[in-house]
Amino acid sequence: MPIFTAPDFDNHEQVVFCNDAETGLKAIIAIHDTTRGPSLGGCRMWPYASEAAAVTDALRLSRGMTYKSALAGLPLGGGKSVIIGDAKTQKSPALFRAFGRFVDSLGGRYIAAEDVGTGVADIEAMRQVTRHVAGTAGGSGDPSPVTAYGVFQGIRAAAKAKLGRDDLAGLRVAVQGLGHVGLDLARQLYEAGAALIVADIDLDRIARATTAYRAEAMPADRIHAADVDIFAPCALGAILNDATIPEIKAGIIAGAANNQLAEERHGAALMKRGILYAPDYAINAGGIINIHHESAGKYDRAAALRQVEGIYDTLLEIFARAAAEGIPTSDAADRVAETRFGKHRQAA
Ligand code: NAD
Repeated sequence: MPIFTAPDFDNHEQVVFCNDAETGLKAIIAIHDTTRGPSLGGCRMWPYASEAAAVTDALRLSRGMTYKSALAGLPLGGGKSVIIGDAKTQKSPALFRAFGRFVDSLGGRYIAAEDVGTGVADIEAMRQVTRHVAGTAGGSGDPSPVTAYGVFQGIRAAAKAKLGRDDLAGLRVAVQGLGHVGLDLARQLYEAGAALIVADIDLDRIARATTAYRAEAMPADRIHAADVDIFAPCALGAILNDATIPEIKAGIIAGAANNQLAEERHGAALMKRGILYAPDYAINAGGIINIHHESAGKYDRAAALRQVEGIYDTLLEIFARAAAEGIPTSDAADRVAETRFGKHRQAA
């Protein structure tokens, strides 16, 4: 497959193909942009259907990290890595040490953290051979509660911009997905006085929300159409698409899930319907902010949370820019981020 001319290449600085015969490691490290600092991003382990699919995923995810970190004001660039394999059957400490040696060979241009299919134990295996890792045991730990805190700040910003509200009391919020982020978000919303409608494919998770937070349950495939003020997608990507957008009743969409828009054009479709969309990589940056506080030195949770509260102002800036320029909020977020990592210089 072509690389330099691939549609998702987008001026990547470096793409590294890692092969280790002894452990069977086959991995790709994509470094999109290091203008603002070393690239930091998760290492995903996934049984990709093809090598092309793995390359595309690495390229897209690393580009997304550049935008996310720039928008969060972090001194970090964007990178991501993928290991081709089944996380359930093909993991071993030796595999992650082999991968860690490739990370080390980049001299700090890429810092690896957890992602889908990898966990703290895998990062610890990498740490035996490289210091360029984050999200270690005894470090900042699980980023999800901090991500949920950031999403809560983003929901507050959206309620301010769309409804002129300074609090969430009495607002109806639909939370799709009650996992690590969604359930903690539900708690925060409940404590802020919001009424909750929830959905998950895991009945146990629903039971926890209905019992602890007086939530009402809804079928997982209909939650996007709930009659609410705010829809918070916290499960899957591509949930905002041609089928769901016409059915959404909420005036605000603000949730944790990555890649919520099925395609870029769906940002414009939401604007056309008058729905205020909090761009995913702006509202869900709490986790990367938390990890940055670990990789930058001694981890201070209070300092990390204070920086996460900045998501409120970042979103207000995006909403204001979108309104002033008559563009979708997703485009406004891209423009704010691109100013921050100097995309104009790349294109020159
Ligand atoms: P998770 O796997 O812990 O939770 C996902 C939940 O969604 C699970 O409870 C699962 O049962 C449920 N789910 C799956 N399919 C569903 C469906 N069709 N309908 C309803 N529920 C469904 O994941 P998480 O860590 O809570 O992350 C949630 C989302 O936020 C993901 O898109 C993730 O990429 C994104 N995100 C997470 C973090 C973080 O710090 N964990 C940071 C940034 C972005």
